[in-house]
Amino acid sequence: MSDPIAKILVIEDEAPIRKFLRISLEAHRYKVLEARLGEVGIATCADESPDLVILDLGLPDIDGQTVISRLRDWTDVPIVVLSVRSDERQKVAALDAGANDYVTKPFGISELLARVRVVLRDRGKGAKESALFEHGGLRIDLHERRAWVDEREVRLTRKEFE
Ligand code: CA
Repeated sequence: MSDPIAKILVIEDEAPIRKFLRISLEAHRYKVLEARLGEVGIATCADESPDLVILDLGLPDIDGQTVISRLRDWTDVPIVVLSVRSDERQKVAALDAGANDYVTKPFGISELLARVRVVLRDRGKGAKESALFEHGGLRIDLHERRAWVDEREVRLTRKEFE
């Protein structure tokens, strides 16, 4: 199989939607990570540094809004929110909290894929002016939150990175 285009973390408590997203995204060469709960999603985001997060606003443990604010404390990872049609206010609040875009449930996969492409592309533009720091054998990418010593990548948790 060819290399994935990007790594996407899906935070969604409904198993059928997670499955649908995984199958659709993998068919388009994305690597997919899944979390059923907000807390797990935040931890997975810290551990795995996905390129994009797809976040359901209605989660059983903490609400999506809180997930967005907590992620925005330390990461600019693009967030595409899944929201319920009727909930205009929640959608606006999600954008205000730092979500990059939203898709309304029930959504078509081609719309979601288009939005994913757009936020990844915008992020690519931002990344160019970033955030590589080099000193001696040490190289740190602040944008990607990755670090290398003598060309070997060092795996860091969020706390270690900070
Ligand atoms: Ca839900």
